[in-house]
Amino acid sequence: MPRETRESAALFERARAVTPGGVNSPVRAFNAVGGTPRFIASARGAWLTDVDGHEYVDLICSWGPMLLGHAHPEVEAAVREAIARGTSYGTPTRPEVELAEEIVARTPVERVRFVSSGTEATMSAIRLARGFTGRDLVVKFAGCYHGHVDALLASAGSGLATFAVPGTPGVPASSTELTLVLPYNDRAAVEKVFAEHGDRIACLVTEASPGNMGVVPPEPGFNRFLAETCRQHGALFVSDEVMTGFRVSREGQWGLDGKTEGWRPDLVTFGKVMGGGFPAAAFGGRADVMHQLAPEGPVYQAGTLSGNPIATTAGLTTLRLATDAVYAHLHHVADTIKAATSEALGAAGVPHVVQATGTMFSVFFTDAGPDGAVRDFDDAQRTDSAAYAAFFHAMLEAGVHLPPSAYEAWFVSAAHDDRAVQTVLDALPAAARAAAAAAQEGTA
Ligand SMILES: *Cc1c(COP(=O)(O)O)cnc(C)c1O
Repeated sequence: MPRETRESAALFERARAVTPGGVNSPVRAFNAVGGTPRFIASARGAWLTDVDGHEYVDLICSWGPMLLGHAHPEVEAAVREAIARGTSYGTPTRPEVELAEEIVARTPVERVRFVSSGTEATMSAIRLARGFTGRDLVVKFAGCYHGHVDALLASAGSGLATFAVPGTPGVPASSTELTLVLPYNDRAAVEKVFAEHGDRIACLVTEASPGNMGVVPPEPGFNRFLAETCRQHGALFVSDEVMTGFRVSREGQWGLDGKTEGWRPDLVTFGKVMGGGFPAAAFGGRADVMHQLAPEGPVYQAGTLSGNPIATTAGLTTLRLATDAVYAHLHHVADTIKAATSEALGAAGVPHVVQATGTMFSVFFTDAGPDGAVRDFDDAQRTDSAAYAAFFHAMLEAGVHLPPSAYEAWFVSAAHDDRAVQTVLDALPAAARAAAAAAQEGTA
């Protein structure tokens, strides 16, 4: 008997009457997998409870932020205390300073400015890069998502076109004609574009390790190559760590490659984990670049709720609790789920590739690319979405809530204990068989 979804379905119907698609961010609508999105009534630790009373092991974790799990007692207590002191003043506060200090201590940035979303962070970083360099062009990679910034909602032009075209209606061609879109992990494409336009490029922006086309790690040395290429041409290297920051390691992706290889990005964007489940994000970087920002410098940027005391308290408490032991646990949980998923899909004969960076991972329902890995957006797009949809729904029925899209990272938390992990492991074999059946139907 499938799980009853009456309350979720009723709320979804009401939501669709007043909100486009019934959701406030598109992927939540289940369009990629079909069916009724589960409306969540509460969450604790590794578990979600929906409005029909069903429990799920959460492998979305709010799309990354919930590093410690839901309703962590110490985060909850800190937030309650903060709320009792008022929720927003529009003046500077102590938690902002302490969170900024924590971020500067963990990452390569020397100065940091808070905003309320990752979108705002990348939008502001690009404005600052343009203001600092006095140049207009921006280079990005296909499949990297940086929030819904007009200039970055760009697709590679067809054929020989160098400059990008709008990736969505509503973005004027004039917003993307200064954007260049390249295939990820492709050094030759980067060299070519810098050889042709290097003196006009303000910045290259990349996900530090892409997670928004599934997890597609940079090939060894790729980020260093990007940093060096930017430096040679006087462009800024903007590393988007909104997803990877404080998630893949204590120091984000930079802790996994930049620190060991000895290079630094000029600007970095953060979000997700640093807000501890509240709307907080940031951009930061070299002191001389950040010095150009108002009120020290001429590049304008502002925000009514930027550095909000509740959000920064939640983020600060989360980061202080995110110890080496937490990251070791996340690794253990991720490794266990990765291995079991691969084993179950293999046993069912479902082509798949598991890829990871630090504690972040995803499963592609596809054969590997020509060189045995999914290394760019073209490879990622060969995913069998129908097989994933069948897998997703079988997992959901068994009490595991995966991201409702084949192109997303799976997120775990410090609260994913043996019981939660065992629930995932128990659900995998039947879900793998459901995926195999759907894949068969697709090829038949
Ligand atoms: C989520 C994300 C963003 C956008 O953050 P929002 O808070 O959703 O605006 C930007 N960049 C990356 C890499 C992300 O994963």
